[in-house]
Amino acid sequence: MNRVLVTGGAGFLGSHLCDRLIERGDDVLCVDNFFTGAKRNVAHLLDHPYFELMRHDVTFPLYVEVDRIFNLACPASPIHYQHDPVQTTKTSVHGAINMLGLAKRVKARILQASTSEVYGDPEVHPQPEGYWGKVNPVGIRSCYDEGKRCAETLFFDYHRQHRMQIKVVRIFNTYGPRMHPDDGRVVSNFIVQALAGMDLTIYGDGSQSRSFCYVDDLIEGMLRMMDSPADFTGPVNLGNPTEFTMLELAEKVISIVGGSSKLCFKPLPQDDPRQRQPDIALAGKVLDWAPKVSLADGLKETVAYFRKVLAQ
Ligand code: NAD
Ligand code: UDP
Repeated sequence: MNRVLVTGGAGFLGSHLCDRLIERGDDVLCVDNFFTGAKRNVAHLLDHPYFELMRHDVTFPLYVEVDRIFNLACPASPIHYQHDPVQTTKTSVHGAINMLGLAKRVKARILQASTSEVYGDPEVHPQPEGYWGKVNPVGIRSCYDEGKRCAETLFFDYHRQHRMQIKVVRIFNTYGPRMHPDDGRVVSNFIVQALAGMDLTIYGDGSQSRSFCYVDDLIEGMLRMMDSPADFTGPVNLGNPTEFTMLELAEKVISIVGGSSKLCFKPLPQDDPRQRQPDIALAGKVLDWAPKVSLADGLKETVAYFRKVLAQ
């Protein structure tokens, strides 16, 4: 039985990952400081004999015995990571150093949840892993983007210097049940607004694009990456390459939710990337992975989840 540590395990992606690890028979230690995550996301696992929840901030050292580490701890939505930007950088950088130090001591394999934000506002489209990105080092998104870039550097230096087994996945916009209703990300915002009969807030003119991956597909990719041959470090993109503008997304959400919501236009936030689409050829080749869930199907599941949560 694998003893698996999931940092950020009470968050949106982390809680789905814990579900899958428990389902396949792993012994899971979920570590979270509950900054954006919540106990309710893993409440259904608390009585399981092979699930353990620990309140801990990864910017402090952690001494546990595990075989594998998924490092997900870090707020992911712009309003959350911009709330305390210094803590965001510390979480990415000190958190990576602490988890890499732990992995080195116990000889664990470690996976970093990196992000498409390492490509910044990309000039290459779609983005392959070989593209180095266009990131503003001093803007309001930098605490997250540069923190994640530095974490990748640390992973590769620990690999080169200490011969550690590392895995780096670059996650593109992912959505699904257990997203935080107030986290300000576009999918949750649009669904919550549509369910409340409010107008949907389009930032800018809505022509900017993103490619949305359903959570189940993403978690499958992360698991395959962790189990991939030892000499494959990544970085590897994980995301759904089907690209939509924010106007198209808004129309889809309104058609699924129904009701009379219209669109209202707000200023575009600083450094908001114009376009984003993963090149997933590498994930296809090495991990035999590709997303399966269409945006329409994934949105239906997510709308059903928010309907239930908002009715409580
Ligand atoms: P989330 O905010 O729901 O989850 C992050 C979790 O980390 C939360 O439970 C939070 O409480 C915890 N956390 C934050 N700081 C911590 C700290 N210092 N110590 C311990 N725990 C801490 O976000 P998510 O969408 O589940 O993202 C998970 C990971 O995936 C993040 O690292 C994020 O950068 C990455 N990612 C997510 C997406 C996406 O679209 N969801 C895209 C790219 C990358
Ligand atoms: N966005 C929007 N309305 C909202 C929230 C976000 O138009 O209510 C836009 C945002 O400006 C960005 C895109 O949706 O262009 C995706 O935003 P999100 O915060 O979900 O993710 P990220 O920008 O980090 O990819």
